Amino acid sequence: MSPYAMDRPAECAAAVRDLRIAIIGAGMGGLGCALALAKKGFRDVHVYENASDLGFVGAGIQLAPNLVRVLDRLGCWQGIEAEATDIVETSIRDGRSNEELTHVHMPDIRQKYGHPHCTGHRASLAGGLYEACKAQPAIKFHLGHTLSSVDEFEPRPVFTVTPREGSPHQVTADVLLAADGVKSVARTHLMQRLGASVDVEDTGQAAYRVMLPRDKMAADPEMMALLDSNQVTRWIGEKRHWICYPIASRTIYNMSSIQPDVNFASAPSMTYTTRGSNDAMLQTFSDFCPLIRRMLDLVPDGQVCEWKLRVHKPLPTWVHGCVGLIGDACHPTLPHLNQGASMAVEDGAVLAEVLAQAPGAAPDVINKCLRVYELLRKERTTTLVDLAAHSGRVLHLGEGKAREERDREFAASRAQGSSVPDKWASPDVQKMIYSHDCMLEASEKFKTLYRHLDQASQGAES
Ligand SMILES: Cc1cc2nc3c(=O)[nH]c(=O)nc-3n(C[C@H](O)[C@H](O)[C@H](O)COP(=O)(O)OP(=O)(O)OC[C@H]3O[C@@H](n4cnc5c(N)ncnc54)[C@H](O)[C@@H]3O)c2cc1C
Repeated sequence: MSPYAMDRPAECAAAVRDLRIAIIGAGMGGLGCALALAKKGFRDVHVYENASDLGFVGAGIQLAPNLVRVLDRLGCWQGIEAEATDIVETSIRDGRSNEELTHVHMPDIRQKYGHPHCTGHRASLAGGLYEACKAQPAIKFHLGHTLSSVDEFEPRPVFTVTPREGSPHQVTADVLLAADGVKSVARTHLMQRLGASVDVEDTGQAAYRVMLPRDKMAADPEMMALLDSNQVTRWIGEKRHWICYPIASRTIYNMSSIQPDVNFASAPSMTYTTRGSNDAMLQTFSDFCPLIRRMLDLVPDGQVCEWKLRVHKPLPTWVHGCVGLIGDACHPTLPHLNQGASMAVEDGAVLAEVLAQAPGAAPDVINKCLRVYELLRKERTTTLVDLAAHSGRVLHLGEGKAREERDREFAASRAQGSSVPDKWASPDVQKMIYSHDCMLEASEKFKTLYRHLDQASQGAES
C-alpha cells in the first residue's frame, strides 16, 4: 500500500490527528496555525503565549485578499469583515506638496481574486482569530507562559517554559511550531543547534502609528473626505512616508509612518515599541504638506506609538527535527507590501495542510512534512520580503535622477495602468500576491514534494 496520505489506513490517520502539537506565540501566525490545525481535525493543540492576557491593542492593518481567503476558509472572516473597510482605490502623493503622483483604481479586486482587499483594526483581526480558536475544544491556551529554551528537537521536541507565576518546567510534544515573532527564542536555539548565526538586523527605520478618532476630524472637510473614502493614501518623501486609511467602521483614521530611527538606535535594550513624542513626530514631518501636519496636530499627547523595524537575513532553514518556525520568526519583513501578517497566517494554514496529509506520526515523517512546508513557503516569502525592501528604497528616494525616473513611472502608471513603483499598489504585483491560494497549493503539491524528500532520504541511506 502506498504510504501517502490519501490512501493511508484509518488508524494511521487517527495517530496523526492525535499528535501533540505545541505552538509558541499567540500572534497572527500562532493563532492562525492553531485554528487551521483544529479545523483539520487535530485534537491536541497547545498554545504558549508570553502575555498573560490577549487584550489586543495596536493600530490598523491591511487585510489583503490572500489573507482574507484563508480567514474565510477558517470561518472567522465574517466577524472581522463587519467592521472592515473595502479598499477600491489608492492614491500615492508627494508628501511635501500633496500632489498626486498616481491613482490606482481597483474596484474589481473582489471579482478578480474572489475576496476583497480591506483595512481593519489589528484587535479585530487578532480578536476574531482568538475567539474562533476558543470555540475549538482541541486548542488549549497557556497564557503567561514564556518559552525559555528549546532543549531537544528530535525525536520529540522538548522545551522549557517559564510561567509568570511558577517555576520553569520542561514540556514534551510531538511537534513544536514557533510563532514567537521577530525576536524568536526558538529561532535562536534552532540556529545554535545547527551552528548557524543569523542575528536580527537593524533596518535603521522606525514607524509611528497613530489613530485619529472621527470626532477630532469632523470639522475638517478634507480630512472627512479621506475618512469616508474607500482609499488607502500614501504620502511619500525622502526616507519617510505616511500610509493612512479608515478602520473600525470609519470611526478611526489610521496613520502609520516610516522614518529614520533616531530613538531606538541609541537605546541599549532590545525594545521594539515605545511611546513616541508628539513634538519629535511633528518635527520629523515638518516639511510635509499642511493636511498631514493638521492631522498630526490632532493626535492627543501620549498617544503616539513608535515601533522599531527589525528584520534578519534569510535563514539557512526553518526546520530542525520536529521543530518549525512560522511568520516573523523566520521571515520578518518591512511593512511596505503589507504582507507580514498575511504571510504568518498563510504559514499556519499551510502547516495544517501538510501535517493533515502526513502518512504517519513517526518523527521522521513529521520532519519531512515540516520540510515540505518550508519548500512550499520559503521562496515565496523571500520574494515578498525582498519586494517590500525594494519598494521602501524606491518610495524613500531623495532628489535626483532616480527620483525623477520614479515619478515618470508613477505618471505612466496612471496613464497606462502599467506597473506602479509602489509595489503594493501595482496590479502585476497584486496579481502575483492576491491570486495565490496557499492551501490549495499545499494540498496539491504535498504528495509530490513528500515523495521527493522520502526518495532522497532513502537514496542517502542506501
Ligand atoms: C509598522 C508595521 C505595519 C504593519 N502593517 C501590516 C499590514 O498592514 N498588513 C500585514 O499583513 N502585516 C503588517 N505588518 C506586519 C505584521 O504585523 C507582522 O508581520 C505579524 O504580526 C507577524 O505575526 P507573527 O505571529 O509572526 O508574530 P507576532 O505578531 O510578533 O506574534 C508573536 C507572539 O509571540 C509571543 N512571544 C514572543 N516571544 C515569546 C516567548 N519567548 N514565549 C511565548 N510567547 C512569545 C508574543 O507575545 C506575540 O504574541 C506590519 C508591521 C509593522 C511593524
